[in-house]
Amino acid sequence: MFETPLPPFLDPRKLCDGQQTITGHVELVSLAGFCSYLQSGQGRVNVELHFARDNAHRPVITGKSSIEGVQIACQRCLDAISLDIMADLNVAIVLTEEQAENLPTEYDPWLLEDKKLDMNEFIDHEMILNIPIVAYHSDCEVTSSFGGKETVQEKPNPFEGLQALLQKD
Ligand SMILES: [Zn+2]
Repeated sequence: MFETPLPPFLDPRKLCDGQQTITGHVELVSLAGFCSYLQSGQGRVNVELHFARDNAHRPVITGKSSIEGVQIACQRCLDAISLDIMADLNVAIVLTEEQAENLPTEYDPWLLEDKKLDMNEFIDHEMILNIPIVAYHSDCEVTSSFGGKETVQEKPNPFEGLQALLQKD
């Protein structure tokens, strides 16, 4: 856990030239997009970023951003499920769409629209990319509209016979 907050804006190209490492945390509430997938906006994302230039002199950011125990809705029962989410970063800073298209595939492009990198926006994006596509408890049951529990199982439809009868008409 990093005690200091991450600066809200950084100059990535300058940091890449200086091969800097930046660590810090971001409050979950600052990550609007990521939070919209979560059931609670309390907590901090820990961030460790390494700025460098690659062999082709591209400004690149590697490192990780992670959070433990975020609450996300189970896709089966809709109750909270607790997850650890970690983003492995391998980002190249680009200034044009054309540069983005010509990047080696191992990089995620980040189009720098200003000189500064908006860290909330950047971390928000990386965390969203790493939310599991399907999240559910291994042992939960679907709650029926009557408040009781029902296991996910095909039940014979009592009207099936009736339907068959009607269709014969
Ligand atoms: Zn569940």
